[in-house]
This record gives sequence, C-alpha cells and structure tokens, in this order.
Amino acid sequence: MPEGHTIHRLAARHAELFAGRPVHASSPQGRFADGAARLTGTVLDSTEAYGKHLLHHHAGELTLHVHLGLYGKVTDGVGEPPEPVGQVRLRLTNDRPRPRRGGGPEDRHWLDLRGPTACEVLTPPEVAALRARLGPDPLRADADPDRAYARISRSATPLAALLLDQSVVAGTGLIFVTEALFRAGLPPTLPGRALDRAGWDRLWADLVTLMTLAVRQGRIDTVRDEHLPEAMGREPRVDRHGGEVYVYRRPGAPCHVCGTAISRGELAGRNLYWCATCQRR
Ligand SMILES: [Zn+2]
Repeated sequence: MPEGHTIHRLAARHAELFAGRPVHASSPQGRFADGAARLTGTVLDSTEAYGKHLLHHHAGELTLHVHLGLYGKVTDGVGEPPEPVGQVRLRLTNDRPRPRRGGGPEDRHWLDLRGPTACEVLTPPEVAALRARLGPDPLRADADPDRAYARISRSATPLAALLLDQSVVAGTGLIFVTEALFRAGLPPTLPGRALDRAGWDRLWADLVTLMTLAVRQGRIDTVRDEHLPEAMGREPRVDRHGGEVYVYRRPGAPCHVCGTAISRGELAGRNLYWCATCQRR
C-alpha cells in the first residue's frame, strides 16, 4: 500500500495539472458515473493529502475523496487522453486549455484512477468527519503530535501497531514505522505507555524527517550516510520499493549497524522487521 509521501506527491501533482480551472470528470467503468457528473464543470480550487487520503476540493463545496488502498493506481498525461484501458473508475481532463500559452495540445492534461478503495464525493461535514477520525500526519504543517502521544502514552498496545493505526498517526505505513523504530533503537513490541515523552518527541521528529525526504525523492530512504552502500562497500539494495533501508524486508540479512541477522515476526497479520541487538530495551 502506498504510504503518505506518495499521496502528498499526488496532491501536489494534481494541483499543478488541474487547479484553477474547470475539470471534466467521467467514469469509463461506470461505477463513479454519478459522482463524476457532479464534479464535471466545477473548478478545482485546491488539493490536499491527509495521511493516505487524497482530497480534491472543488468550487461549490464538493470534495473528491480518494483512498488508493492496496490496488489503487493513478496515472496522468498530456494531450488527448488515450482510450480507457482496464477498469478506469475516474478520468479527469481539463475542460479547456490554459489560456496563457494559447492552448496548444500540451496544455491539456488527463488523469486516470483505477482500483481505489474509495472514490466518492464528500460534503464539508463528511470531510470534517474524515479528518476527525485521523491522527496527526507528520507531513502536514497543522499536525499536532500531542494528540498522538495522548493515545500512545495510555496504551499497552505494541508501539508498531499504534504507529500503523491511522487514527493515532496518519500516513505512516510499514516501511516508515519499522525504519523509524530501528533508528530510535526501540523494539516494535514495546507497549506504547513505556515510551516517555522525550522518546516520542524524537520518534515524531524522525518521522517528519524521513517522510519529508520521501516526498522530495519519491522513494523511502532511511539509511544514514555512514551506512550507504558506498560508505560500507556493499551492494545497493535491490527491491521493488527502491530505497535504502535498515530492516524493512531484510529478514536474515546482516544489520548495517551491528551485523546481527534481521528478525521477522508477525503483528496483527502484518510482517514486522527489527534488529534484536540494536532494538533491545
Ligand atoms: Zn543491529
């Protein structure tokens, strides 16, 4: 599942392509035909990412809400859109070319959304309800880490499960959580209430750092300079998620810091990865 940085990148990209002009929405697959009809002809005012939720705010108090879930995918392009391939839930195109450059074909954009968990039009109260059920998002300027700590400090639940719970912290997935816990030297099974305030402040600050870097680079890199392949004289990581990491999907491989084989375990149906030496308490 895409983590929060991917959604923040999409929000910025969609604002760049579509904001300030009317859009034309359609649902080639048909499942979002009614919603698309409500959005068509309205101006996209702004876009927003909140955790793993993507919001397009349109004039007239209509908000398109998208959650990609496990299988959702967004593609976009310039010029006339191609014939729809596969199950395109939502297609957006510019209603008219951008006037400032005389409207060549390069000023037209399209966007296709396939396989999302959620694609719906929300009213302002529904948007407020969505925000209310999400914890603070480390990528948002308005995030309040105190709200998350209020939950964590009262809970006997393992820290990894709390950080994966979107009502505690929004936007964090398995990579950010397992990597931030490694960098903090905290075992993933540590009960939330065993984390003191200073420890939480460091963990939150590190999530902000890692996630902000991921937005900039379009991939998740968590390894400090001294543990990069060049610095250690090791081969770069080969994995479909891309970046250099300490523990995520490295079971049995030597820890970059201490050489211990990385452990894997299960927590609430998800795989967890950690170093039993570096993350001892
Ligand atoms: Zn280690």
